Amino acid sequence: MFIFDVHLDLSMNAMEWNRDLRLPVSEIREREKGMTDKPDRGNNTVSFPAMREGQVGLCVATQIARYVKKSNPLPGWHSQHQAWAQTQGQLAWYKAMENEGEMIQIMDLEGLDNHLQLWQSQQEHKPIGYILSLEGADSIVDMGYLERSHEAGLRAIGPAHYGPGIYAHGTDSVGGIGVKGRELLKKIEELNLILDATHLCDMSFWETMTAYNGPVWASHSLCRKFVDHNRQFTDEQLKELIQREAVIGMVLDAWMMVPNWVRGKSDPKGMGVTLEIMVDNIDHICQLAGNTNHVGIGTDLDGGFGTEQGPYDLDTIADLQKIPELLSKRGYTASDIENITSQNYLNFLRRVWG
Ligand SMILES: [Zn+2]
Repeated sequence: MFIFDVHLDLSMNAMEWNRDLRLPVSEIREREKGMTDKPDRGNNTVSFPAMREGQVGLCVATQIARYVKKSNPLPGWHSQHQAWAQTQGQLAWYKAMENEGEMIQIMDLEGLDNHLQLWQSQQEHKPIGYILSLEGADSIVDMGYLERSHEAGLRAIGPAHYGPGIYAHGTDSVGGIGVKGRELLKKIEELNLILDATHLCDMSFWETMTAYNGPVWASHSLCRKFVDHNRQFTDEQLKELIQREAVIGMVLDAWMMVPNWVRGKSDPKGMGVTLEIMVDNIDHICQLAGNTNHVGIGTDLDGGFGTEQGPYDLDTIADLQKIPELLSKRGYTASDIENITSQNYLNFLRRVWG
């Protein structure tokens, strides 16, 4: 079954983790043996061959770079301009992968339809389609930079990531969107970009919902009902998103799936982290919506963690192919399952780009 994963940090892995994603997952793991600079060394789950094996033929792929003030302990760049340059390096890698026939950038309906057709064909070594998104908007020095990004194919943008940002407050911080946030939202509407509500703290989330009238989705978020953390959506937030025709992408990061996860200590087996928990979150959103039209897949499987912090019944991204059967066991019909694995987000794009 064709899968559309709406949140992967592919170029971050290439440029900061130094992973050549053209290689099989096993070869990347082999090369990282003994490395200790990142917690997920040797445990990666994503590469192009694994995506092809799992029929993950389309993704939303990020550019990501944070700006931090002197007082901010999070890792990040010391100026917005450096953050911008980092995202441009990431973009250059996507372009190089396009030159190799590994990826293809999707920017409009025509490109989308052509790509979906290609994935129905028998062609070997199909390119992975990617829609460019910016996770955290700190690298946008001023609105002229956002225009340039849009021209380069940027189609979605999340104002914040972790901590306080230039345009909004993100996960684990508290605050609103301010004058700059409002200016950004206006520009997002003007360019018909998709606003990604993932990572907005509660105050910034609700201020954004008041100020913003354009298309909104959440690429990688789960339900606060199951894990009580500000990174997760409350039922009120989920209802607001549903009412705005949003689709919410389900993440496979263990700490968001089970309560009391301790990074670097907890173990997926010990904590019972499985793909079933993703299905619990899917089911909760479908029950809130009264249909299966508002949930999709946004795994974040390469977002700074690997098998040490993911479901233990997933070895690589190819195992996303287990999801249809899990949904089917819960009584989801074939068309429900197709909605969740790709159609909801595809329909969203058709509506916004049409
Ligand atoms: Zn994220």
